[in-house]
Amino acid sequence: MRKTFQIAIDGPVAAGKGTVSRLLAQRLGFLYVDTGAMYRATALLALRHEIDLNDEDKVVALLEKSKLEMRNPLPPKELDGRLTTVILDGEDVSWAIRTQKCGIGASKVAVLSKLRQTLVKKQQEIASTQDVVMEGRDITFRVLPDADLKIFLTANLQARAARRHTQYLTKGMNITIEAVTSEIKERDTRDMQRKIDPLRIVPDAWVLDTSELKIEEVVDLIADKVQKIRNQNTNE
Ligand code: C5P
Repeated sequence: MRKTFQIAIDGPVAAGKGTVSRLLAQRLGFLYVDTGAMYRATALLALRHEIDLNDEDKVVALLEKSKLEMRNPLPPKELDGRLTTVILDGEDVSWAIRTQKCGIGASKVAVLSKLRQTLVKKQQEIASTQDVVMEGRDITFRVLPDADLKIFLTANLQARAARRHTQYLTKGMNITIEAVTSEIKERDTRDMQRKIDPLRIVPDAWVLDTSELKIEEVVDLIADKVQKIRNQNTNE
């Protein structure tokens, strides 16, 4: 029997998955795994090496030659608002992967099936040794199909665009709300229409709409549910 507790969260762009997962993991003492950061780091690698983002073999070979590490941000230097620390070949790229270019690049490399297989395997290995809150686009049905709790976290387009716009402005990126809205739509469409593992809602997922909720309220709701599941497990 598996011993780790797995919380799997999927959802569209800027639904609040990262912030909610980070706080939830902190509260429960679980590891937070941002799988999108892996796709973003792959895109950054390919862009820096000027490799065509559609060239599956080259993109996978490049990733396999590189060393990608992820961890909770370490105090004091890394506590600068980031949700996770990403180290690529020894370089801290935690912020470099958060640009609009890397987000769009990530959704392009995410259609490559060999790349997905490589990253899914890494993600499953992580979740087999530690309790995790893992978030992405294929966690509830591909990476952790037997997760203890599956959530589809969503919000309306207006709320998501407003949140992502604020994030970009905070980081000093000058961008209009219209440009953010069209980025979100473009990435969502690609994520939901790709042939391999398109983003979808599985029948046993809890659909949580965060449009009208504060982050803390969402975290409280999920933490309550986790407690119920744990009580149920101990009574069985
Ligand atoms: O979560 P984030 O927006 O940072 O992810 C960047 C992109 O990586 C997504 O738009 C999606 O195309 C891809 N992704 C994915 N599967 C995951 C996580 C992210 O395809 N599990």
